[in-house]
This record gives sequence, structure tokens and C-alpha cells, in this order.
Amino acid sequence: MPRGHLRVLAWLALSSLVSKDEHTRGHRCRRGHHLYNGSSGTFLPVKEEGKDAMATVKYDEATRLYPGNDKPSVDRLNIDIEDGEFLVLVGPSGSGKSTALRMLAGLEEVNGGKIWIGDRDVTNLSPKDRDVAMVFQNYALYPHMSVADNMGFALKIAGVDKAEIRKRVEEAAKILDLQPYLERKPKALSGGQRQRVAMGRAIVRSPQVFLMDEPLSNLDAKLRVQTRTQIASLQRRLGVTTVYVTHDQVEAMTMGDRVAVLKDGILQQVDSPRRMYDHPNNVFVAGFIGSPAMNLLDVEVTDGGVKVGGATVPVERDLLSGASGKDVTLGLRPEDLELTSDGQGIPVTVDVVEELGADAYIYGSTKASQHVDDDEDGDAPEKPFIARVDGRKPPQKGETVHFAPKQGHVHVFDAASGERLGD
Ligand code: ADP
Repeated sequence: MPRGHLRVLAWLALSSLVSKDEHTRGHRCRRGHHLYNGSSGTFLPVKEEGKDAMATVKYDEATRLYPGNDKPSVDRLNIDIEDGEFLVLVGPSGSGKSTALRMLAGLEEVNGGKIWIGDRDVTNLSPKDRDVAMVFQNYALYPHMSVADNMGFALKIAGVDKAEIRKRVEEAAKILDLQPYLERKPKALSGGQRQRVAMGRAIVRSPQVFLMDEPLSNLDAKLRVQTRTQIASLQRRLGVTTVYVTHDQVEAMTMGDRVAVLKDGILQQVDSPRRMYDHPNNVFVAGFIGSPAMNLLDVEVTDGGVKVGGATVPVERDLLSGASGKDVTLGLRPEDLELTSDGQGIPVTVDVVEELGADAYIYGSTKASQHVDDDEDGDAPEKPFIARVDGRKPPQKGETVHFAPKQGHVHVFDAASGERLGD
């Protein structure tokens, strides 16, 4: 083939990979984000090791105070999100997750602090200039448009040419198993397919950051579980930095590289799921992460440990020495307990046995410390207690059994501040 032809072909191939709007955004072209990736078979954004594509996200003391409110909904938030990381914001309703996400999207004003994407201060940029794509809870699909048009709409508005849009839409449809549905209207799709169209619409834009606000909340339980795995693996494949909001701690723990727990607009902890589970920083995180929840009992410090229901649970002296008073909060996960056969350990009266096959959970109660919360006649109050036991030989309802914590799995928190004691 003559040299000139080769050059023209090469030019055509390259120009088709970079859309019009990206030509105007120098940083995207330099990042080499859109080269064909043989292993994934896609022109869509694929992380290339060693490239200088730094779509980090930084919340730097970021604060949002809604007009008329007396305290911030997001209060001096600091999180450094790595390039390509999947970060999940989790917390109960009203904890400020959506506000934090919308601040990053540019949909909510930032009243204090800054937000960075890579080395760009985006605090005051409009949403369209931030290079982010958001997937909303309700998907917000246009009912009168086909799946393909829905997916390509943002590119059309941005002036990307038709052939390029079609190519990107088809690539995304392939990844998301939407190829047979491209000409359908959203109403002729299942909930799961609609969810994938909403994902596809974000993917075709090849943004620096994906923002997802409870994207699975409209799916039934089974589909949620399937889809969360799909989204997590898709994110890993595309390598695009992602911030994901959910109130569901199981979703957070199974999807995130790291999880950030919010309460009342204040960041409680940001850590890997494993670390968060093994090492909650405070009583709130301890009770929020894990299902069934950690048993949290206010107990009295004694020689060599703490007192629960007349039994002494051994706790290292070093841990207890940091306590501000003579009581601490003891944290024991239901799965970190062992039935004792000698009547030693925490006495628990079994109310309900939940048999799950391999395991069983017993829901019962124990008398908390002899000292803390004593009621007027001096009896210690009954506190709920949950433990996981072998499903083949669970105790019976009404029985009193005894548990000892597994070694190394005792959590202790300051009773006054709720902060973790020791390492
Ligand atoms: P989450 O996503 O964790 O459920 P939000 O970010 O939606 O929490 O809300 C955090 C807090 O901010 C809540 O107390 C909520 O009532 C308040 N809030 C949210 N949006 C507004 C608004 N537009 N005006 C005033 N207060 C708001």
C-alpha cells in the first residue's frame, strides 16, 4: 500500500478514537485513555498501567450548609480518593452522602473548603466542565427515546459526530449486554436493563470520574446482588475513579475498594472493608458495619478485663488504661463468639434461634454489667445479645448458654467518647 494511504488510514483510525469535545480538552488526549485495548476489546476508557492519568478526587475540608439550616449537611469533609479507586460513601439516611456526591458533581454549592479532580480545583466549576458522569437512583431515562439515543444523548449535545456516538454506544452496549435492545424504548425494558442503560449513558462519555447515587435501589433483592457484582467488576475493568453512594452497608462492603462512613455530615472513618470490619474507629462504625450488628455492651472495668453478666471477659490492661472512666463499651461480633461447655463466659438466655443451614443465629439477652445501668432494685438490666453458632447443633429456645469471645476479636470503646481504645 502506498505510504500516503497508510498515513491517511492511521489518521482516520486515531481521529475516530478521540471525540470532538475531547479535542478541546487537552488533558484527555494526553492521557491515552482511549486507545484500543485488546484484552477488553473496547475503545472505551481503559486504565493503562503507568500512564499519568491522575483522576484523583480530593475533598478538602469541603462543607455544605443549606440555606436556612443551622448546621452543615456535610461538615469539613476530607477524603483523598486514588486514581481508579472505587470509593463508597455509606451512612444512614440524612447523613450527607448525596450532598457530598452532588458537591463533587457540581450540583450543590460548596460553602467552605475545596474539591479537586486531579490537579484541577473544581470547587466553582459548572457540572459540565468537571468531566464527571452521574448515574442517578431513578435512572432519569428519556421515555420517548430509544436505548441507543438515551445512551448517546450527552455526546450529541456535546457535538460529537454521529458515527463516533454510534461506535461508543455499541461498545458500551456490548459491555453491558444491551446490544439486542438498542432500538427499544425504556418502557419495554426490565428494571435491570434500564439500570444498565443508565450505566451505559455514563460510560459512553468516558468521564474522569463516575458518580453513582444509589443506582441499585430500584432493583429487587436478587437483581441487586447480581448487579452490584457486575458494576464492581465493570468498574475494575474500566479503571475509572468512582464515587458510589449507598445506605446499604453490605453493598458498601462488597463493592468498595474503600468505604467512607458518614454520620450527621461528619466523616467517621474511611478504610478498606476489611480494616473497617476488623478495626472500627468508634461505636457508631462498629454498630453500623456488619450484619447482624456487633453486640455493644456498656460494662465495668475490673481486674484483668471487663464484667459481663457476672463473668469476666479478659481484656488487655493496655487497652483499658486509655478509658476515661471506669466503664467501657465492649464490642463483640456475633461471629466472634464460641459456646463454652463448662459454664464459663457470658451467660445468654436464648429467645429465638434462626437456622440458616450451615449456621444458626441465636437472639437472646444477657445481663449487662452489675454496675452500669443498674436499675433501682439493683438488678442488672437485660441487654439483647446475638451470636452465631454451628447450624447443626444450635442451642434451644429458653436455654441459657455461655459464650467466650474468640481471641483477638474483642473491641473496646471509651464509654464517654465512643472512640476505639487501643489499636
Ligand atoms: P443522605 O444522602 O445521606 O440521605 P442528604 O445528603 O440527602 O443525606 O441530606 C443530608 C442532610 O441535609 C439532611 O438532614 C437533609 O435534610 C438536608 N438537606 C438535603 N437537601 C437539602 C436542601 N435542599 N435544603 C435543606 N436541607 C437539605
